[in-house]
Amino acid sequence: MEITKIRCKVCSSLKEGIILDHYNLKICLTCFPEFFKKRINDTIKKFNMFKFSDTVLIGISGGKDSVSLTKALKDLGYTVKALHINMEIDENSEKTENFVKHFCETEKIELKIIKLQQLFPLPLYKLSRIAKKPLCAVCGTIRRYIMNKEAKEEVIVTGHTLDDEVSFIIKNLIFWNDDLLCRINPVLIEKEGLSRKAKPLCLTTEKETAAFCRILGINYIDTPCTYKSEVYNVFKDITTKLNKNFPGSIIGFYKGYLKRIKKIYPENREIHLLQKCKECGYLTSSDTCSICRLKGKLLEYKDG
Ligand SMILES: [Zn+2]
Ligand SMILES: [Zn+2]
Repeated sequence: MEITKIRCKVCSSLKEGIILDHYNLKICLTCFPEFFKKRINDTIKKFNMFKFSDTVLIGISGGKDSVSLTKALKDLGYTVKALHINMEIDENSEKTENFVKHFCETEKIELKIIKLQQLFPLPLYKLSRIAKKPLCAVCGTIRRYIMNKEAKEEVIVTGHTLDDEVSFIIKNLIFWNDDLLCRINPVLIEKEGLSRKAKPLCLTTEKETAAFCRILGINYIDTPCTYKSEVYNVFKDITTKLNKNFPGSIIGFYKGYLKRIKKIYPENREIHLLQKCKECGYLTSSDTCSICRLKGKLLEYKDG
């Protein structure tokens, strides 16, 4: 984030600020945090994500996106609870957990921590081998499962940014993953067994979440997960380059995709795809959910 002398478009004063090319906006350091929060609140309302009276359960990883979102939602007056899932990958996992604890204490946010071992007795890399699936995929499945199990009346909120959403769409377009492309939505309505889910940062870039943290002096964990797949990195880079070379392009692409999705996928295929897991009741596309299947494989693994 580059700080320069600018004429602020909001308060008109000439002072230190940042340039957000994708909005064609010059904004001072004093006005930016309010702009950032207002943008999130506008996004929540635009997509009817949740009501002011709802309690949100935010998945907090300790990175700039979930940290800035937690802070913004709390400042906006929403009732926020946080959930941190420690996947116990390496020594950084412990460091991150401690950081999240400290952040939530400072911000007076109720925090629940769940460790992988509470669900599985083996480390993630072994689970990935047993499941015969990439580590990132297993990690994501377990995280989503825990979030869904932990949310009772709460709306699940995640720190997915515009950059995340766009790289996800581009990736799935390239590989034509229709089952995923038809489901893209910044808010998923609750249905039996699954809570409502929302992504209030879907129109906000990572450049902004970083700026928000830096301007307010909020620390965050900046070490990317060592297991991030090459595929993830490739599409994230493409998205970053698009936004840099064609400011505003990714936000236009994302909004355009949401506008066209019903034409591209006229029937909501998701409804037909999901049913209740016969073991645990979690909604799944087959008769047993992937977590229960993994637990089953684990028993065989121990026996053999
Ligand atoms: Zn200003
Ligand atoms: Zn299950």
